[in-house]
Amino acid sequence: MKLAKEFVKFIVKELELKSLPKSIKFEGDDYSAQHLTFGTYNPSTDEIVVVKGQRHPIDVLRTLAHELVHHKQHKNGQELNGEDGSITENEANAMAGELMRKFKTVHPEIFNVGSWGFHTNMEEKIQSILQVAKTGKAQKIDEHYVDGFTAKLLITVAHNLSANNRKKFYNESIGDMVTLAYKLVTQ
Ligand SMILES: [Zn+2]
Repeated sequence: MKLAKEFVKFIVKELELKSLPKSIKFEGDDYSAQHLTFGTYNPSTDEIVVVKGQRHPIDVLRTLAHELVHHKQHKNGQELNGEDGSITENEANAMAGELMRKFKTVHPEIFNVGSWGFHTNMEEKIQSILQVAKTGKAQKIDEHYVDGFTAKLLITVAHNLSANNRKKFYNESIGDMVTLAYKLVTQ
């Protein structure tokens, strides 16, 4: 991924990183189904994993930026807390957003995708579903409540679908997704 390499260079400069993580690995969609996340930074091994899969490049880069902020936090001696709303999580989210805005001035063409709105909505929806699966806490998504069981079911089913069908699947409303998920697993 040529763009990812350029993006890492850009972040090294922006965040004034004195070191790079030991490795940055890109994984397929199955990783998010298994680990219920789009990315991880492991402070004990200093390794980053980012899910590439069917995601939009902007979403992949945002995750990469988020995990690189964790690398910086760890090198600065900050205790990492992966829980939603923790200081290090909030900081990583805020800085990743800021870095994406700056990168847009360097590569506006990546952001000028006609279907960008669709991708953003889809990504947010999947993020919410992964969050429910991870925490087990039911959450309201697009006027539908999703619980841990439903979220895991949706993820499992989605990862057994072809790329095209998966996009369609995620783009359905949550209510339709659940119906479809049940149908698929009970067939
Ligand atoms: Zn994080």
